[in-house]
Amino acid sequence: MTKALAMISGGLDSILAAKLIKDQGIEVIGLCFKSYFFGPENAVRMAKQIDIPLVVVDFSKEHLAMVINPKHGHGKNMNPCIDCHAMMMNYSGKLLEEYKADFIITGEVLNQRPMSQNRSALDVVKKESGYSDKILRPLCALNLPPTKMELDGLVDREKLLKISGRSRKEQMELADKWGIVDYPSPAGGCKLTEPNFSKRLQDLVGHEAEPSEDSINLLRFGRHMRVSDNAKIISTRTSDEAKEIKKYLKPDDYVFLARDYGGSMVIITGNPGKEDIEFAAKVTGRYSKGKDQGEVAVKYGRFMQPLVEVVNAEPAKDSEIEKYLI
Ligand code: SF4
Repeated sequence: MTKALAMISGGLDSILAAKLIKDQGIEVIGLCFKSYFFGPENAVRMAKQIDIPLVVVDFSKEHLAMVINPKHGHGKNMNPCIDCHAMMMNYSGKLLEEYKADFIITGEVLNQRPMSQNRSALDVVKKESGYSDKILRPLCALNLPPTKMELDGLVDREKLLKISGRSRKEQMELADKWGIVDYPSPAGGCKLTEPNFSKRLQDLVGHEAEPSEDSINLLRFGRHMRVSDNAKIISTRTSDEAKEIKKYLKPDDYVFLARDYGGSMVIITGNPGKEDIEFAAKVTGRYSKGKDQGEVAVKYGRFMQPLVEVVNAEPAKDSEIEKYLI
């Protein structure tokens, strides 16, 4: 029986592509990728809706190295979509033998994204993947020359589609027809497409040659202030954020709390100097219920240690904080 590996992103297009091929009587195994910037949650949900098995591939480390230095550059934010797609295809190609599969399916649609899915970008991705003759794009196949799989009769070209452009009308009609109701918005789920996250990531890779998974996870929470080359301040906005952020702190990070008022938990990561610590105390005052007082007592210490140091700090002005906000 012919078998295909379907790259499942978690969005609608890739699941439609997989369903189209499954309906030709071809066995389909889903593959989804896990990195520091996106997880398998949406893909798991989508694969269930068309009843295919799903294998999760964790390529976090190699993916991060590519995100820092992509051969084909970044998109609007820190998203290196061409290199990212090519890397996923390359991983999928390497798994063909293991799963005894004949080819790879993707949900790409010609011209859906101006930078990463125009005709030349699709050709580049295919070539860079190293598995050119094993890639089938069922949703837009009729806009492209026939692939080896079609010419060899593994796939019926007549049953492939000719979708192109940014309109999602055809995809939504297909989803309706196939009873696929629960799908996320396009491009949702990848942190690299978010402007704020991207700015923080850019700052991080500018200051840490090899950022750790924990430092990347910290980018998701709070307000971030780059106060010096050696130190970054993070101020949490809610108690849930404070709880979450503790999972990613290191023992030598500093934690600050206003002693006599409720408010933000403030952290300094890196290797702060005296001035950085003083400023973190001012930030703690600003984001506490004592922000309108002339001075606020702030206690601080290393993470997981008792906060035994106390300093009196004048709450920082918003204009001072803005200078450092990332
Ligand atoms: S949006 Fe994110 S996951 Fe998708 S190709 Fe671009 S970088 Fe990769």
